[in-house]
Amino acid sequence: MFKGTAASPGIVLGKALVLEHNELVIEKKSISDVDKEIERLNDAVAISKAELEKVRDKAKVELGEEEAQIFESHLLVLEDPELLGSAIDKVKSENVNADFALNEIKEMFVGMFEAMDNEYMRERAADIKDVTNRILRHLLGVKIVDLAALEDEVVLVAHDLTPSDTATMDKKKVLGFLTDIGGRTSHTAIMARTLEVAAIVGLTDATDKIKDGDFVVFNGDTGEVILNPDEETIAKYSQMKKEFEEYKKSLELLKGQASVTTDGKHVELAGNIGTPNDVEGLIKNDAEGVGLYRTEFLYMDRTDFPTEDEQYEAYKAVLEGMSGKPVVIRTLDIGGDKKLDYLQMDEEMNPFLGYRAIRLCLDRKEIFTTQLRALYRASVHGKLRIMFPMISSLEELLQAKAVCEEVKAELDTENIPYSKDVEVGMMIEVPSAAVISDVLAKHVDFFSIGTNDLIQYTCAVDRMNQKISYLYNQFNPAVLRLIKMVIENAHKEGKWAGMCGESAGDQRMIPILLGFGLDEFSMSPISILPARKLINSVSEADMKAFADKVLELGTAKEIEEFISETFK
Ligand code: PEP
Ligand code: MG
Repeated sequence: MFKGTAASPGIVLGKALVLEHNELVIEKKSISDVDKEIERLNDAVAISKAELEKVRDKAKVELGEEEAQIFESHLLVLEDPELLGSAIDKVKSENVNADFALNEIKEMFVGMFEAMDNEYMRERAADIKDVTNRILRHLLGVKIVDLAALEDEVVLVAHDLTPSDTATMDKKKVLGFLTDIGGRTSHTAIMARTLEVAAIVGLTDATDKIKDGDFVVFNGDTGEVILNPDEETIAKYSQMKKEFEEYKKSLELLKGQASVTTDGKHVELAGNIGTPNDVEGLIKNDAEGVGLYRTEFLYMDRTDFPTEDEQYEAYKAVLEGMSGKPVVIRTLDIGGDKKLDYLQMDEEMNPFLGYRAIRLCLDRKEIFTTQLRALYRASVHGKLRIMFPMISSLEELLQAKAVCEEVKAELDTENIPYSKDVEVGMMIEVPSAAVISDVLAKHVDFFSIGTNDLIQYTCAVDRMNQKISYLYNQFNPAVLRLIKMVIENAHKEGKWAGMCGESAGDQRMIPILLGFGLDEFSMSPISILPARKLINSVSEADMKAFADKVLELGTAKEIEEFISETFK
């Protein structure tokens, strides 16, 4: 048995599929049989073509014509005689191996396209890279797993999963994730909870220990993995799986009920989403709204910024999907660990403290304006709340709000309708914002506390760094004091305070947050009904007294022990 960080609940028994995302290692070799080398290249191209056609057809059916277009472009690259012809010429003239020749030609074309003035041509560089890497993998015999076309049910084992892995995978076939790196708030963990797939992250060497086809059982609640278990263990885990499914069924009874304490304090239980498709999971789990729509996924895994219309369609889909329930859409939060291939960014010593989120949007105003136009246009389709990430000063907040005013004035001139009731709020995820939340509260309609970042910035502890993860603790008294202060400052100005960091859905944290007076809790869809169960069983008055006692304690450890004793 080995252990990692429990990232998403569930008991899983299944066969492992180990994904490799290794860099391609290309060596130069002299070859004697030129014809054979060319045949090898042609074979790899033919296999790649068949694969791409399959992926394109599937994308057309499942994602629509527009999404499938990218694979159409890849097929065009594959069929381009310039590219392959040049590689074949190189093999012939220099007597080198096909992989080396193709890689050299790739580098040349990519360099050429990337240097072009024309945006469209620059995009082609990414297509060339993708397609040639696919051919190269076949030439090198590096396995390519098409997650969209899995034959059997599998447990995915990977160093880490990329957003495109989680976006393209066939969710019906994926039983769970096991990854080498990541913590509870890494994006793989968050995606797992959004997709309701059991997961353990931060296993360090899962991809070494587990081989393709191994049978694994794991518990997403405790972080325990057992490799090739005996019959007795399989029976035990099968029983646990059954019990887990029964518990899930008991939660069904809470659907349609209010989230209210025994002494009548109503709170809003909302969900966090990454794409419009996630709305389905929210409805299934009876969310009372969307408390965080992370729009950066709209910008990722593509070759250029999404257009205003594309964004409008996505926001409209979410607003309509939620049928008038409130929807908090966060403006672009790129940078830190989230990068865009098509946005050239300088290397930074400390990307999490760097050029990101609202800082980038205020600097590259056209990106921000396009998003805000799409948001306001979509606002007529539901109850929109706009939220800015990473605000660290009043100046930033006022600048961001000024851009909203400019956008609205523009829409007025163009006679484009938008809702006049859009609430505008900000995340509190930087300590400086928490400290001046009394001032900021005067200028917003709401706060949403982003504990994932607030913890890392308050405690100066990188949320992705395994080695110091023991310091990354939501129960650190400094973090708790800031949270309490922010909620109180919001209330003093008659504003509401929510939380969309992972702490909002944490069963041990919810009693304290209730005691602090939090109004809205936004979490992974699967945490919503368990949260309602807990909230419906306690009184706000008791939780206030409990939270007061918590704040008297000096360490996170004492606080955790006190919680365990109180809620056995
Ligand atoms: C947060 O920081 O708590 C948050 C919700 O934002 P993200 O996890 O996307 O950084
Ligand atoms: Mg954040």
